[in-house]
Amino acid sequence: MVATVIDGKAFAADLLSRVAAEVAGLGFQPGLAVVLVGDDPASKVYVANKARTTVQVGMRSFEHRLPAVTSQAELVGLVQALNEDKLVHGILVQLPLPQHLDADAVIAAIHPGKDVDGLTIGNAGRLAAGLPGLVPCTPLGCLLLLRDRVPNMAGLHAVVLGRSNLVGKPIAQLLLQQNCTVTIAHSKTRDLPALCRTADILVAAVGRPEMVRGDWVKPGAVVIDVGINRVPAADKTRLVGDVAFAEAAEVAGMITPVPGGVGPMTIACLLRNTLTAAQMMKGNA
Ligand code: NDP
Repeated sequence: MVATVIDGKAFAADLLSRVAAEVAGLGFQPGLAVVLVGDDPASKVYVANKARTTVQVGMRSFEHRLPAVTSQAELVGLVQALNEDKLVHGILVQLPLPQHLDADAVIAAIHPGKDVDGLTIGNAGRLAAGLPGLVPCTPLGCLLLLRDRVPNMAGLHAVVLGRSNLVGKPIAQLLLQQNCTVTIAHSKTRDLPALCRTADILVAAVGRPEMVRGDWVKPGAVVIDVGINRVPAADKTRLVGDVAFAEAAEVAGMITPVPGGVGPMTIACLLRNTLTAAQMMKGNA
């Protein structure tokens, strides 16, 4: 293997200890409310992990588990109550929601100052305008990993595969702010392998197991693999990214693994955002 493997697990652990140290010096306890609607097994695991890590860094965790039959009005009513709750500094509504619920309308109900997932139009607009705000957790995690390894990204060509509001678009905005020349690719992009081979920084967020092959990677490039895909394996299933890791690691200069790369950064950045939201609220009090 040629590439250096970027250890997201170790970076996230360090970030969490820095968040915990700041929380200890705040003089009050930030609170994160997580709302889970329904019984999606993966979401239940995510919510339990978030609650455990929230308490580990010294914050208060408020879990709201609602039945799958919850109405739009009930869910929006809960979000509005959390907006008013002085003990709550961050609100996260676990996605996906059951089909009968309008996720966009629920997100729009979250106060932008408590929107620790960075998904409201207000925070997306602030990011696009280059103003300070709450940035979506996974893109923020990618940026922190990249900035640590490539302190000066000015002029580098960054290719972002994927244009979702949750991942692709905010990552592209963050890289633009770092003065990268950014290309966003998607399912209609022509000759993806050739485009990827021009990337100094290649971010894959498509949700297609091992789509990016080794010969798509420019020698020495930094590869950030956001994908989390569960695929059948001999015993049960295993997690793979959007990048064929073994092949890409023979060509890249640096690469994030799956698991243990971007994944652990997401929850660490959620708590970093909760700390930021609490500090902003204190500043406004
Ligand atoms: P979406 O499904 O919302 O978006 C996928 C994007 O990839 C779309 O823009 C789509 O293009 C593009 N795409 C799909 N197929 C192709 C293709 N064959 N060629 C080029 N582009 C393609 O996914 P998300 O952005 O929410 O998530 C992306 C990945 O990141 C998933 O694997 C997800 O599990 C993972 N993820 C990981 C997180 C973490 O904590 N590490 C957090 C969030 C997500 P188009 O717009 O044209 O349809």
